[in-house]
Amino acid sequence: MAIVHPSGEGDLAGVYALPEMTLQADVVVIGGGPGGSSVAGCLARRGRSVIVLEKERFPRFHIGESLLPRSLEVFAHLGVLDELEQTFLRKPGARFLCSATRRTNQYLFRDAFGGGFPYAFQVPRADFDHVLLKHAARLGADVREQTEVTEIVRDDRGRPVGVVGKDASGARFEVSARFLVDATGRDTLLTSGRPEAKSLLPRLDQSAFFTHYQGAFRQHGELEGNIQIIVFEHGWFWLIPFRGDVASFGAVCNRSWVKTKRQDETLESFFDRTVAESCWATEMLSGATRVRPVGALADFSYRVTDMRGDGWLKVGDASGFIDPLFSTGAHLAIKGGYEAAVAIDDALRANDVSSARFDTYEKRVRYAAELFLGAVQAFYRGELRELLFLEPQRPTLRRTITSMLAGDTFHDKPPTWARFLKERFPPELRAS
Ligand SMILES: Cc1cc2nc3c(=O)[nH]c(=O)nc-3n(C[C@H](O)[C@H](O)[C@H](O)COP(=O)(O)OP(=O)(O)OC[C@H]3O[C@@H](n4cnc5c(N)ncnc54)[C@H](O)[C@@H]3O)c2cc1C
Repeated sequence: MAIVHPSGEGDLAGVYALPEMTLQADVVVIGGGPGGSSVAGCLARRGRSVIVLEKERFPRFHIGESLLPRSLEVFAHLGVLDELEQTFLRKPGARFLCSATRRTNQYLFRDAFGGGFPYAFQVPRADFDHVLLKHAARLGADVREQTEVTEIVRDDRGRPVGVVGKDASGARFEVSARFLVDATGRDTLLTSGRPEAKSLLPRLDQSAFFTHYQGAFRQHGELEGNIQIIVFEHGWFWLIPFRGDVASFGAVCNRSWVKTKRQDETLESFFDRTVAESCWATEMLSGATRVRPVGALADFSYRVTDMRGDGWLKVGDASGFIDPLFSTGAHLAIKGGYEAAVAIDDALRANDVSSARFDTYEKRVRYAAELFLGAVQAFYRGELRELLFLEPQRPTLRRTITSMLAGDTFHDKPPTWARFLKERFPPELRAS
């Protein structure tokens, strides 16, 4: 039996034999995190048939809890902004604190160039990812949780034309689709088994340790939702307050500090010892109670060389991950998801899903990611760290840093501030 697409557009006849249990869609999205939900929601909103396969059952814990204002444009487009407003704490900006000098400096999104939303949200990801995924389903996507993609189905030219999924009962089924999106996050499904397609990024060999606290420090009034970024000798800490009295607290540490962890030392004890290295971290957690076990992740920064091909593309962490420092991961997944949906919809309409049609998508996402990458590497080299705390600071520099922190990084023509930042802090893609 041949596959004929329900929309009549495209013809997969003769590509491969149709088994008994086969679902069909314009697009199959693997992974239901922010990247997968955004691309699926945007495509469903455009009338495309979309199937999302997510291996976990939501809500589930995930790291990455601080968002950027420029993602809100996508939420507004999807029609989910009001629900997010009602559920999560507003984040008006970022406050940096230096443990060595006790200097502090605060960047408020309302000072960014180019307008846009003057706030983002601080989100427990279990809840946030669930809201986005349910919303994608409301928009018409066929969302299947607890369904892991175990194989990619390819035609005789090697082009992906579908996937095999395994549901919670262990039953296997196929989805045939005209287009496939890899939104599997750090699992990087389409990259797995191909080490040549994934490389570590220079200067970003950090490790992260993270947990949640009740009763930790937070600023007052409209600044309550600020992220606190504490710089200390061995790296930096984040404090991300949620609505209510719980906050996420994490440490990102360099290799030499992580080496001081003894074999018999628990993660909790190492975490406490790390917190004790910073006056600010100690003060902010004084009297607070840890309410989650400490988690850990190492070597989380990587570059993926291929972001697209004939009939497929990668979104979010599946296309690379920089570093948690400026909270850019979810933004690149959400905004990248929107950009991907626009490109996929155009390609399906033109009945041409060849790789070349996704050239602009790749260029836009890489430009944004590399702008962040250059800034993050400059922070670890110490150059940007100095500028962050500079006093007095020229208003133009303050607005440039704020625009980057707001995630204003997808442009048809890069504005002056973005060109300045990229020239001042060019990204290092390979170890020199
Ligand atoms: C220490 C640390 C701190 C961070 N802090 C922040 C932060 O404050 N702000 C921020 O924006 N970002 C942060 N990030 C990054 C953020 O976590 C990611 O960038 C973001 O989650 C990417 O979204 P995604 O949709 O691409 O992937 P994910 O959110 O990882 O979603 C991928 C989904 O795919 C599913 N999946 C995987 N394989 C399969 C399969 N075979 N079949 C079906 N489903 C599958 C997974 O279950 C998962 O639900 C941080 C990262 C780290 C390491």
